[in-house]
Amino acid sequence: MTSLSHSQFALAFCVVLLAASSASSPPPAVHGDGERVLTVPSASGGETPNRWSRRHTFHAGDLLDFTPWNLSVLVVRADDYKRCAAASPLRRVADGKLFQIEGRGLFFFIAGAPALCEAGQRMVVRVATMEADLLPATAAPEHMKPLLAASSPAASPTQMGTADRDQSNKKSTLKIWIIIVSILSGLGILLLLIFCYIEWRDRKVRAIKMTAITAAKFEPMDCDYREGGGKVCEICIEEYRDQDTLGVLPCTHRFHESCIKEWIKVGVQTYCPICKVPV
Ligand SMILES: [Zn+2]
Ligand SMILES: [Zn+2]
Repeated sequence: MTSLSHSQFALAFCVVLLAASSASSPPPAVHGDGERVLTVPSASGGETPNRWSRRHTFHAGDLLDFTPWNLSVLVVRADDYKRCAAASPLRRVADGKLFQIEGRGLFFFIAGAPALCEAGQRMVVRVATMEADLLPATAAPEHMKPLLAASSPAASPTQMGTADRDQSNKKSTLKIWIIIVSILSGLGILLLLIFCYIEWRDRKVRAIKMTAITAAKFEPMDCDYREGGGKVCEICIEEYRDQDTLGVLPCTHRFHESCIKEWIKVGVQTYCPICKVPV
């Protein structure tokens, strides 16, 4: 044992575990026709037949092998199963024969000897129902839908009242949203109209003010320009050149025509840049 390394010991442990687990629940054998063969344990083993049955899912076509029970097995009705009554079985499975599950629902098996049955050698097998029974109505095959619809209970008055209330709540919520959207749209349109009106009014005022500007040509020899600063535009601070087009305000102050028009266009500065007299 001392010569075994840790990895060898772990491997051996795994092999033992695997062997133990396969011994406790052998995989179902497959019959020649592809059907499963499930071997039913006897009550004298570690697990009772019923406990074994609860661990498994059975399907129509599965074969049950009762060999561990040693004696013949009876298929009985539910009440006979409870009483271990072997007098009138539905069917007898001879010792060593296989029982093939046909149909679905509950199957009751008891040992042929009542004493063994009393000792726990009996078993109930539940065979899975057809998949269609487990599906919701919406997924049921077309031909079954009318039947399912007819069998479903009608809505109670309370349920209908709740549905009506939900419907009216939805309607009132929708109405509130429509009102909010209408108010916001109205406000938006009103603001747009106000903005357009202000813009239109300013344009009109500016157009009127532009008419107050009279045009003139700069002539260097003109005495009006020779006296004190008259040679420089007070807006762009540039000297006039011969034949520049000037704009003259009513206060007689002169500027480049383009300079004074731009001055008035930009808005609030609607006064003479030199003497501050409103235009
Ligand atoms: Zn200028
Ligand atoms: Zn002026």
